[in-house]
Formats: sequence, structure tokens, C-alpha cells
Amino acid sequence: MMKEKSFFRKHMVLISVIGVFLILTLVGVVVYYNPPDVLLDFVIRQGIKLNQQKPSVFEDDGLYVITTGTGAPLPEKGRAGPQTVVVAGEQVLVFDAGPGSTLNLVLSGISPDDISGLFLTHFHSDHIGDIGELALKYWTANGSDVPLQVYGPPGVQMVIDGFEQAYVLDRGYRIDHHGEETMPPSGFGFEVHPFDLGSDLMSSQTVYKSGEVEVIAFNVNHLPVFPAVGYRVNYKGRSVVITGDTIYTESLTHHAKGADTLVSEALNHKYSQMVSDSSKDMGSNVSVVAKDIKTYHIRPDEVGIVANDAEVSQVIITHILPPIPSNILKNAFLRGMKETYSGSVYIANDGTLIKMPVGSDEIFIKELL
Ligand SMILES: [Zn+2]
Ligand SMILES: [Zn+2]
Repeated sequence: MMKEKSFFRKHMVLISVIGVFLILTLVGVVVYYNPPDVLLDFVIRQGIKLNQQKPSVFEDDGLYVITTGTGAPLPEKGRAGPQTVVVAGEQVLVFDAGPGSTLNLVLSGISPDDISGLFLTHFHSDHIGDIGELALKYWTANGSDVPLQVYGPPGVQMVIDGFEQAYVLDRGYRIDHHGEETMPPSGFGFEVHPFDLGSDLMSSQTVYKSGEVEVIAFNVNHLPVFPAVGYRVNYKGRSVVITGDTIYTESLTHHAKGADTLVSEALNHKYSQMVSDSSKDMGSNVSVVAKDIKTYHIRPDEVGIVANDAEVSQVIITHILPPIPSNILKNAFLRGMKETYSGSVYIANDGTLIKMPVGSDEIFIKELL
């Protein structure tokens, strides 16, 4: 009896610590599975407050590029369908709307209702799949009363008409539920600005000009897909070129001349052949598709030739084909490019931000997501 008493007394501190730990664990489990309202209220309010206080990454005057979708049709975890966002001063220009890209655009800190224009490179599904979602977010985020402005080569009207029709029922639901003041009917849908560059591969045209922001569309070669265009954005002496989908072409080099940043798609032929060979017995279309796509995408070493000849400062690789199976194979994906281009090359992720301040030659890269 005496022995037991002295045991508890001797280990009083340890027993107290264990007791407190068990009680806290029990409280933790109860709170985790059934948190009290007061705690929920606090956490939600703090979350919203912190979000609103988040400093904007676009505060300095400059040209910013965010790769909000860096994937392609072959699925890869963590990569949405192709989309590149350019922020130039107060203007937000969106290039393509690949599946899943709208979510990344919002998560990157861009308010959809700030979008000045959506520019389409061509009408392959991986570049247009999220147009409906983007337009809906543009309309509903803050009650836009002017529809989303869309720019694209011939065919754009038909594609946009289809999306508009598909979302007409949703338009009605939202106006009925939230009222016309919150969801102005005039802000739903699209206003289309088609442009036609003809079939001359070297032709280009200024398709958007507002303040100091200029967007030039130029033909690229994605045959048999036609039309297919790339874009160049100029803003206060800084510039970015977006290739769209294309094989190597003189048009790219010509229109990328002296650009600060080249955002280029790239397909590694060796990887693609390996995907094709290894999926031959799977009984799906992957093998044939992986082989066929080699004929209408540019290789990394060819991107290097363009960047070198056009004297581009920074290359950003996106629309990565096929998916790179492991991070240790990232450098191998670019094999051959070092021989053709000695400048800086970066394989983009969803949420990569490229900052080009006005009045300097500097280029900064950071990850947002
Ligand atoms: Zn394509
Ligand atoms: Zn594509």
C-alpha cells in the first residue's frame, strides 16, 4: 500500500503531463469531428480576411505572364489544359481556356471580371474546353454587365455560339435565384471579334489595342489544323510571344524577334515514341495518338532555334507533351535545346509567374500555386 502511494507521488508530474495530453487529445478529436460554431466562425472569418489582405503580385508596373494551364490532351496530374494569362498594367489578357484552367486562374489571384479579352489560338478541345466556365466566372464574380470579349481566327463564332447555347439554362437559373442586379443579364455570354489572317504563313495583324497594350496575332503551322495562330503582346517596351500549337516555322522566329519572353509549347519526340511503343498492347488509342502528334508540334531543340534566331531572353516551356513521368527526367525532356539556345529556359508549372518590370531588362520567375 505504502509502495503504491509513493509511486504516484514520485511520478506525479509525469502522470499530470500524460493526463493533460490525453484530455487535449480528446478535445482535439471532438473539435476535429464536430467543431463548435464559434470556432468555425473564427476560422472562416480569418481566412476571408487574410485572403483580402493578400498583397497583389501585380503591383509594380510591368508585363506579367502566368501559366495557368501547362498540360495537353494526355492527362498529367497537376497540369490543367493550356492557358497563359498576361497582365499588362490594368489589363488582363487570357490566351486559350484549356480544361481546368479557370480554377488555376482564380487561385493565382486574378479576378475573372478583370479580364479584358480571351484570345484563342485554335479550336482543338484542349484549348477551348473551359471557355464556358471562364465566361461564367467572368459574369458572376462581380456582376459584369458587358459580356466576355473573345478574339480568334475564322471558326471562333461557331465555337462561341455553341458554348453560349450550352450555358443558356444556367443563365436563367442564376438570374432567377440572385436577381438582375447581382447577375446583370447583359453580362452573360460573349462578344466575338473574329479576325482573318488568310493562308499566308507569314501574315500577322494587330487584333487588340488599348492604351499601351498591343496584341498581334500571327499565323503558325499546326496543319492539318487550320487556322492556327500565335500571339505577341507588347507593353511599354516589354514583350511576350505565345506560340499556340505549331511545328517549327519561320513565322515564329519573325514574330518573336527581340521578345523578352517566349512561351512555347514543346513535344519531345523520343518520349512520345516511347509512350506509343509501350501502349501498343493496351487496346486504346493512346499508341496511335502519341505517334501521330509528333507531326504537328515543335521539338524543344527547334524551340531553341527560334529563341536563338529571334534573340529572345527567356523561354518558358508549356503544353508539355507527353507528360514527363518524373522530375528527374525534366532536363532530359529538353535534350538538344542546350545546343541550339544558350539563354534561360524554364519548364512551367500551373501557376508559374514571370514578371517583366517596365523600364528594365529584368525577368523574375516565381511559383504562385
Ligand atoms: Zn492543337
Ligand atoms: Zn494543344
